[in-house]
Amino acid sequence: MKGIPITGASPVEHDAALPSSAPVVIIGGGIIGVMTAYFLAQKGLRPVLLEKGRIAGEQSARNWGWVRQMGRDPAELPIMVEANRIWHQLQAELAEDLGLRPCGLTYVARSDKELAGFEAWLPHARENGVDTRMLNGAELADLVPQAQGRWPGAMHTPSDMRAEPWAAVPALARAAVAAGAVIRENCAARLLDVEAGRIAGVVSEAGRIATRDVVMAGGAWSNLFLRRHGIDIPQLSVRATVVATTPVPDIHAGGADFGAIALRRRVDGGYSLAEGDAHDFWIGPDAFRAARAFWPQLRADPFGRRYLPYAPRNYPDAWGTKRRWAGDETSPFEQCRVLNPAPNHRKIGQILERFRQLFPSLGTVQAAAAWAGMIDTMPDVVPVVDRAGGLPGLSICTGMSGHGFGIGPAFGRIMADLVTGDAPGHDLSRFRLSRFRDGSALVPGPAL
Ligand SMILES: Cc1cc2nc3c(=O)[nH]c(=O)nc-3n(C[C@H](O)[C@H](O)[C@H](O)COP(=O)(O)OP(=O)(O)OC[C@H]3O[C@@H](n4cnc5c(N)ncnc54)[C@H](O)[C@@H]3O)c2cc1C
Repeated sequence: MKGIPITGASPVEHDAALPSSAPVVIIGGGIIGVMTAYFLAQKGLRPVLLEKGRIAGEQSARNWGWVRQMGRDPAELPIMVEANRIWHQLQAELAEDLGLRPCGLTYVARSDKELAGFEAWLPHARENGVDTRMLNGAELADLVPQAQGRWPGAMHTPSDMRAEPWAAVPALARAAVAAGAVIRENCAARLLDVEAGRIAGVVSEAGRIATRDVVMAGGAWSNLFLRRHGIDIPQLSVRATVVATTPVPDIHAGGADFGAIALRRRVDGGYSLAEGDAHDFWIGPDAFRAARAFWPQLRADPFGRRYLPYAPRNYPDAWGTKRRWAGDETSPFEQCRVLNPAPNHRKIGQILERFRQLFPSLGTVQAAAAWAGMIDTMPDVVPVVDRAGGLPGLSICTGMSGHGFGIGPAFGRIMADLVTGDAPGHDLSRFRLSRFRDGSALVPGPAL
């Protein structure tokens, strides 16, 4: 798995000269920024995308690669159905393989209670024409015959897919450039230039770009950037560890979450493995600021994460990270080109052991690579996708809460339409920026 994950040592692929002005500047080269650039370019614009490190260096190439409709928040589901269509279309139209395979994804229930929770979600699938169905224990055994254990059943969606994140997102960035987007890696956006109360430009480390429209798609860094401009969103990040095995015989072609372990077959014949629901959380100043908003999530699942007292130096919510800086100063975004947390080493062995216990027929399984990513999450587990009313010209698409890879292409399409004033085609009210301030109760999306 050479070159995985993408880090600050990976080669720079995009080094375009920056124009002095642009119709739109996109901040962040993850799947959201890349797909926004792609769809804006499809509309005939020449957007500029600034990436402080490498395209897909952070979450977008470190994820499990599930393209999942199943278990989505009802407000996200129609958007995810569109995302599935876009993925198919991109794979058909682009010359490069995105690793897209319509292989089905499965949530295995560990108890009757969990199974009933899955079943309660089924009406949303039916309303949106998604082919999710329940499997009993025998049907699950037919689907994954070599899995050792007893489960009451599962929820399965044949039209869900997998893709190879580290192949797909860089390929989509190349497609955006081919369509007319300008991408510059190793180039942080430091500040927004605001004149007479509206966006007039972006100050980057390579100079100012005049623009009237900015899309903030900075993943785990969005709140740090936005707060500098008086926009505070309760966004926190958790570390998630992934282990990639060497190629092994095919025990399941799709993706399945058994609770203690989640797996996804890759095109190289290995499996990407992770613990379904265990994360590490570094406590920093934002954790205190956002504590009230996250309280319902914490109360519902107090032990779903391990708490650590302080984040490594230069992380978005490290105690020493600068919260204020000027346009002519090095910003925190340049001090951490690629957020590349060390994987949790204790978990690597544990994950491999759980996989071995689940599939003893495979014998000893070797790790080809292990990495971690910082997942940016919101208290209600759905993103912010909105134009910022208080700062005309600014649009925000962030806080994907651990499931932005699959849905990214559709949010990119939506952002392009929001920026150009076209109808987004979906009800986005659940994703509004004002929900954290307008007194409405934050209702967490399904924890499936
Ligand atoms: C371990 C793991 C497993 C996951 N599994 C799945 C899955 O199976 N399916 C799924 O759908 N999702 C999954 N996710 C979530 C998914 O990867 C993310 O939701 C998605 O990639 C977020 O995309 P993004 O573009 O918002 O952010 P990112 O991919 O994090 O990109 C943001 C980019 O913005 C850049 N940036 C930030 N600030 C600046 C600045 N000031 N100037 C310039 N650039 C800046 C950063 O360098 C970064 O590259 C997983 C995530 C992880 C970590």
